[in-house]
Amino acid sequence: MTQTITPCPSCGAPLASVAGYPVWCSGCDWGLDVAEPRRRGLRERFDRWSSRKVEALYEEVARSPAERPGWDAARLASYGPALCVHLFTVALIAFAIWVLAAMRTPVLIFFAVLALLVAWALLPRFGSLRKMPDVRRRPDASALFALLDRVAAELGVRPVDAVVVSGDFNAAYGTVGLRRHRVLLLGLPLWESLTAQQKVALLGHEFAHGANGDSRHGVVVGTSLSTLVRLRALLRPGPPDDRLNYLIDLCLRAMQGVASSLVGSVLVLQHMVTLRAGQRAEYLADRLAARLASPEAAAGMLETLVIAEDTHLTAIQRHMLTGRKTGYWDDLRDALARLPASERERRLRAAARRRLRVDQSHPPTHLRIAVVRGLPAAAPALLLEPDEEQQIRAALTADYALIARRLHDDARERLG
Ligand SMILES: [Zn+2]
Ligand SMILES: [Zn+2]
Repeated sequence: MTQTITPCPSCGAPLASVAGYPVWCSGCDWGLDVAEPRRRGLRERFDRWSSRKVEALYEEVARSPAERPGWDAARLASYGPALCVHLFTVALIAFAIWVLAAMRTPVLIFFAVLALLVAWALLPRFGSLRKMPDVRRRPDASALFALLDRVAAELGVRPVDAVVVSGDFNAAYGTVGLRRHRVLLLGLPLWESLTAQQKVALLGHEFAHGANGDSRHGVVVGTSLSTLVRLRALLRPGPPDDRLNYLIDLCLRAMQGVASSLVGSVLVLQHMVTLRAGQRAEYLADRLAARLASPEAAAGMLETLVIAEDTHLTAIQRHMLTGRKTGYWDDLRDALARLPASERERRLRAAARRRLRVDQSHPPTHLRIAVVRGLPAAAPALLLEPDEEQQIRAALTADYALIARRLHDDARERLG
């Protein structure tokens, strides 16, 4: 690796730059500028308000560790907008039934049908395991499920019924279907970037959402949030339609715009009232992850979340450009192992500079890392042995191949 030494344009300290990585100064943070869209007016005030809230909660959690939330005012309030959304849906259906049963005038029937259509759009979707792609059940990967069961037992939550593998750089835990099947969404690029004990920490964090009384993951608030997100995307005006008259198209898109921002405002409101409860639940999930895997591993897992995604994306690019079809996972592991310490530090500091925003589900990662690093060092409650990790990798061999192919093809498609 070639290193060139030049002075920092800002503070004059020697800059050590590693070929292939951006140049920056560890003394004064020169070169760390993070491009962020400038928001004005109400949005800027909202950003400042949310930064203050996020920081205040961090101070509080850092002083006294987050406990499982009781039924305080903040948590009760978090149900307000969600219940309103669901009650509105019920009211629309009741109105339609009443009109269709009692008063059959054409105008009212039109409104009844309209109400039913809106109610249909608002109705919570629970999804269906059978309709989801890439679902793995116990017999498909018994070594993985053995680990998942140990994590679930340790945290006192119900074991998962299925794992959905993907090429995303994330993981999530949720319930699917009316029977509320527990499902783990596992992005293999993130999974493969983690060390054995960091994998335990990731599972610990995700499974903790089934145990920490997090309303955002619950039936009432969770379905309302997903309904609003779906609705906002549905209503967002698309590009102009040439087949329509210009004025009609303009009106239609203006109406869509108004409806979409109306839904967006309810969503922001719901994020605001669930901020405290939701972000507390994230800190608590991190603490449970630290108890399970060790604070060191939990902090390492969070750092990998920040650091490794860029490496994963560049590795795919390079893989696609060289036209290679196999060996993607070896390349990723290799690239991560070769990542210089200064570049790791640069990515961590750049991420910490990004604006603190509440309209994100998790608290800023650097604050989560600080809280976990503040915990007393402790031995892990669950240890993932190297041979066990290897068995899990072997059980997922076909999935690794599938996801690598898909990442390769998607990257090629994006290139056009
Ligand atoms: Zn400098
Ligand atoms: Zn979480």
